Amino acid sequence: MLYAVFGNPIEHSRSPTIHQLFARQEKVDLIYEKRLVTHTLAQALHDFENDGGLGANVTVPCKTEAFELSSQLSERARMAGAVNTLFRLPENQGWYGDNTDGIGLVRDIQRLGVSLHDARILLLGAGGAARGIIYPLKEAGAHISIANRTFSKAQELSDWFNIQAIEFSDITPSFDMIINSTSASLNQQTLPIDNQVFANAVLAYDLVYGDTAFIQQAKQAKTALCVDGLGMLVAQAATSYALWRGFEPDIEPVLETLKKS
Ligand code: NDP
Repeated sequence: MLYAVFGNPIEHSRSPTIHQLFARQEKVDLIYEKRLVTHTLAQALHDFENDGGLGANVTVPCKTEAFELSSQLSERARMAGAVNTLFRLPENQGWYGDNTDGIGLVRDIQRLGVSLHDARILLLGAGGAARGIIYPLKEAGAHISIANRTFSKAQELSDWFNIQAIEFSDITPSFDMIINSTSASLNQQTLPIDNQVFANAVLAYDLVYGDTAFIQQAKQAKTALCVDGLGMLVAQAATSYALWRGFEPDIEPVLETLKKS
């Protein structure tokens, strides 16, 4: 039983560790590889199929190509325009494409005991990650306002998903949750928002892992819950695993193991 994660770079990926922990819960032996995409994902998947590959995760920069080569799509993948999970369909019907990033975030927020129903969310960033999470957050009942450094990209997503776009300079402290989907945290860069923006927020969530500049600012502003993206990573993986294998892994012990490593 062969599974893999595809991307470039791929060496840093924690997906093999996570999926092996899920397999241990299911009490099965499976192979989960990291596969570097040097040319096209189509070529890499062709080789994978010949090796008997059953399912795959797809990461940067291959999520759009995965979307394009899927023969069937879930609604959330269609809305996102990106695929992070592939499942081989029987009888040469090709690949089913799903996007589990957004539902991973929703599940992690619910795990924290925070309700998304009627929650007012400020979403920072309008890149690929934002595209993946907006539809599942809306489906869970949230009302989203989006701000982005390049405002035209926020407007694009505002039109596609029917949400509000706002300029950074117009942000008021009127949000229950602030979600950072920018990659600014990767370089410990701060965003042009002041601490007041967090005044009414119960949750600050950074999609990036670790004690990021955004998390530090939220802590300074005394936000009750300041959370990084590790739980989302595990929850999106669990959703992929359930799609492939029909087994629903328990997220909590896997998250605890990862936090210790
Ligand atoms: P993209 O490159 O598609 O988008 C990056 C976004 O960040 C853009 O909106 C960009 O704004 C903004 N940005 C970058 N630097 C700054 C800055 N200094 N100030 C303000 N805005 C900035 O990346 P993705 O959307 O694919 O990914 C974003 C992050 O989410 C990544 O760090 C990734 O690791 C993380 N992620 C985590 C997941 C998880 O499971 N926890 C899942 C998926 C992603 P502009 O448009 O102006 O350039």
